[in-house]
Amino acid sequence: MIPLVNLDRLHHELHDELLDAMDAVLRSNQFIKGPFTERFEAEFAASHGLPGENAVACSSGTAALYLALKTAGVGAGDEVLVPANTFIATAEAVCHAGARPVFVDICPATYGLSIESAARAVSPSTRAIIPVHLYGNPCDMGKVLSLADGHHLTVIEDCAQAHLARFKGRPVGTIGRFAAYSFFPGKNLGGCGDAGLVVCRSAEDADMVRRLADHGRSQKYTHDIVGHNLRMDAIQAAVLSVKLKYLPQWTRTRRAHAAAYDGALDSLGLKRLVPTAAAEPVYHLYVLEVERRDRFQAALREDGVVTGVHYPVPLHLQPAFSDLGYVRGDLPEAERAADRVVSLPICGALQDNERDHVLAQVTAAATGHL
Ligand SMILES: *Cc1c(COP(=O)(O)O)cnc(C)c1O
Repeated sequence: MIPLVNLDRLHHELHDELLDAMDAVLRSNQFIKGPFTERFEAEFAASHGLPGENAVACSSGTAALYLALKTAGVGAGDEVLVPANTFIATAEAVCHAGARPVFVDICPATYGLSIESAARAVSPSTRAIIPVHLYGNPCDMGKVLSLADGHHLTVIEDCAQAHLARFKGRPVGTIGRFAAYSFFPGKNLGGCGDAGLVVCRSAEDADMVRRLADHGRSQKYTHDIVGHNLRMDAIQAAVLSVKLKYLPQWTRTRRAHAAAYDGALDSLGLKRLVPTAAAEPVYHLYVLEVERRDRFQAALREDGVVTGVHYPVPLHLQPAFSDLGYVRGDLPEAERAADRVVSLPICGALQDNERDHVLAQVTAAATGHL
């Protein structure tokens, strides 16, 4: 079976290095905060051309989004623009902050948020916008910033799928006021457990995020505000420091596979994601559209290829958000995509012969009776 993401192979290759890193934490007894998280913050910030103090390690991508929203002062009575096609965490964080997610339709070429739809959704209560660099493809941040500037909205980039992606030569995550990263194991950079990080453009914001994530603490027993326990643990930081060194290489591998997929799908006439102009995507997922998805996925599975669907239900139609009053037809592009998108295996550990096998099976399925 060719899995969507081959963590087995990736961890097999790094096995000794990862065990050494975990062992160093065990021997140090510094499991929470301390040198391992500080080191990872500095390394991750440096990979974005920022000083370490601007990066705050935390417990998950969801926590990172929440901490950014709280630091921006988003709360009860506020609205936050969120694309309907994303993982549910993007909208959950808005609800946890006490605000209301307002769902925005997507652009059919990039599957990312549509600026026109976002502009129509702005109201006097809108306080923030969360552009999600979905599947690792950067949003057009020029358009996002001009919409946000015009309405005084805080921009929080959801970079959970877009580590090291760039827009106009600039790393995503350094363009908005905040950026939220996830290191869930299956992400382009993943821990051996849950972890996340907030990148802040200003050191003052970073200081607030750090306090909120650590019991509102300014000193050991001085708590200025009521905070949370949303810290990253040191084992995850040590693992992530090891893996960060390999991320550029894994990203090159993903791009090479994506280029091969692009060429083959174009000659088959299948619709696939077309990256944003001036963007350098990192292909967290490789997404195309097919007519009869169930049969397509079943045919590939029979031939040893696992596929995925990201995401089968747009957020405005999720039961969890039924009280927001959306109905089918409200966001037609997101709904259309949800019925048709399918993700092919891609990761830093995918081999060329496996990719060619995937392509042969996609070709057979697409030119057969599907
Ligand atoms: C994974 C993901 C998150 C949430 O990250 P966790 O670390 O799992 O909490 C948020 N947004 C997007 C787009 C994601 O893919």
